[in-house]
Amino acid sequence: MGYISVAIDGPSGAGKSTVARAAAMRLGYVYVDTGAMYRAIGLAVCRRGIDGEDAAGIAAVLPELTIQLAYENGTQHVLLCGEDVSDAIRTPEIAYYASKVSAVPAVRQFLLETQRSMAKSGNILMDGRDIGTVILPDAPVKIFLTASAETRAERRYLELREKGQQVTRERVLHDVVERDRQDMTRAVAPLRQAADAVLLDTSDMTLEQSIQAVLQIIEKKIEDLNHES
Ligand code: C5P
Repeated sequence: MGYISVAIDGPSGAGKSTVARAAAMRLGYVYVDTGAMYRAIGLAVCRRGIDGEDAAGIAAVLPELTIQLAYENGTQHVLLCGEDVSDAIRTPEIAYYASKVSAVPAVRQFLLETQRSMAKSGNILMDGRDIGTVILPDAPVKIFLTASAETRAERRYLELREKGQQVTRERVLHDVVERDRQDMTRAVAPLRQAADAVLLDTSDMTLEQSIQAVLQIIEKKIEDLNHES
């Protein structure tokens, strides 16, 4: 068998990145956080003062940008034109810009090959919104990880507070619902569950239970594949 790709998609705040990162670590797979790539482009657009609605302006910036993922002791770092922006991209403002730029077809095209080529270089666990549907439609393992909007907002709220950011629960819930709407209704690569993805709702699960559930889905799928071949 060649390299294994695990595609994990789902709405924002479902705990995807935390669960996916931990599962990848335990499996010895490389974890690829594609949201970080959209956020890096969002940061570049924000810094240049381009409006989030200005699709042509956003597309025009792309030739100036290089987005790379680098790994240090298994931790992913995002490099925007060589600058490590891993922390700078984790703000609500950049999340907003990420969602805006991700609706621009030229941006998705820009990242498509980079993301696909990562799956050719080893066993990976890639998380995003369109991994199972567009980027890696042939991935042998696909999981759609979700949770209720309230649960996701509460998790995001606690995470932002822990980082010392001044936010309210209402604001975070509003942002989560709005970002879901944008991600699910955009014309290109909208967020949706692939037909062959396993649905996992983590609303009533702890982090450890979610990680175990993901690992079980992956292990079961790989076992089935081994039997088939
Ligand atoms: O997952 P994260 O919150 O970091 O993603 C930021 C934004 O990037 C999302 O709201 C979504 O609009 C976009 N995104 C996407 N496709 C992906 C990953 C992220 O459109 N594969």
